[in-house]
Amino acid sequence: MRIGIPAETLAGEARVAATPETVKKLIAQGHTVVVQADAGLRADAPDADYIAVGATIGSREEAFAAEMVLKVRPPTTEEIGLMKPGTVLVGMLDPFNADGLQAMTAAGLTAFALEAAPRTSRAQSMDVLSSQANIGGYKAVILAANIYQRFMPMLMTAAGTVKAARVVVLGAGVAGLQAIATAKRLGAVIEASDVRPAVKEQVESLGAKFIDVPFETDEERDIAQGVGGYARPMPASWMQRQSALVAERVKQANVVISTALIPGRRAPVLITEDMVRSMKPGSVIIDMAAAQGGNCPLTEAGKIVVKHGVTLVGETNLPALVAADASALYARNVLDFLKLVFDKEKGFVVNREDDIVASCLMCRDGQLLRKTA
Ligand code: NAD
Repeated sequence: MRIGIPAETLAGEARVAATPETVKKLIAQGHTVVVQADAGLRADAPDADYIAVGATIGSREEAFAAEMVLKVRPPTTEEIGLMKPGTVLVGMLDPFNADGLQAMTAAGLTAFALEAAPRTSRAQSMDVLSSQANIGGYKAVILAANIYQRFMPMLMTAAGTVKAARVVVLGAGVAGLQAIATAKRLGAVIEASDVRPAVKEQVESLGAKFIDVPFETDEERDIAQGVGGYARPMPASWMQRQSALVAERVKQANVVISTALIPGRRAPVLITEDMVRSMKPGSVIIDMAAAQGGNCPLTEAGKIVVKHGVTLVGETNLPALVAADASALYARNVLDFLKLVFDKEKGFVVNREDDIVASCLMCRDGQLLRKTA
């Protein structure tokens, strides 16, 4: 197949969907690859590295004219217009954006949204949410440490003792657990909260304290188990008790990293304005849920703002700030997914019996096929 790798155009998006490493493997499998000029530049993958593994460098139009297009971000209307009906598109295509899916369907694309893959062991090597959230969690702590005007570790020096930073992590999924691990490496004292009781052990094994919000009814306990590993909105009674406990912990914190998300919904509000007001001046909040409305109502998506003496970071694309490694991991996820849609004899195949293929397939032949949970 002829595979195209366009440059991403969203502001601040520095990642690329295929690296010289994965392009080399695609070419070894018999594909031809055309990479848009400078597509990998911001991810430390210059054109020369793609040429060295056998790719050709082409225009934006040539990349989108390929039979299969690999992308990081959902295509813009203009990009959809550059693809012929029948083009196979693979990327993070935002499966919850109905208008976007409709546009791809109407254009006759065969589109695979990798974020929709099930969170199963077999899908792990193509789990783009995990590979990118892991990087986001790491970078969130590095950003916080950079903004915070004090040390993260405890230091005993001849000039006196410096206290360790207190870090609170809200939401201990992939990003939150990596944030805990990174903050621990920097010597911070960490506490974490999540609705899913299963994460308590993981939080503790990383050396953080779990903020335990007891369940008072079977209904609360049941909802907290989530669906497919994902959280569900918790009853108001539980949220109030969590809020009271989180408020106490946030008041003592120097850094808060919030990552709480519920797929397809607005992020839950966990840090109220009163909680921000209660924090010490110079504290830092990295709101990783900024793109989904934020875990704090004071967060401004895409901006760094100071309110009540606290710096709130609303960066919406932390993985793009680690573009080389984020691209390397993303490109390997894509390569692994492609193994499911290429057959040695038959070439490109769509096996809808395969749960990963079926979950990721958003549309084909003008038909919207997204499976909703
Ligand atoms: P996510 O990004 O959807 O959400 C982040 C975290 O926020 C989750 O841990 C969620 O429970 C938490 N959260 C939601 N509402 C909250 C609230 N009100 N208060 C506190 N926390 C709240 O999650 P994710 O990192 O994508 O992980 C989702 C699931 O997928 C997890 O169960 C994870 O273990 C699982 N997973 C499985 C695999 C695999 O088996 N292949 C790989 C990665 C992740």
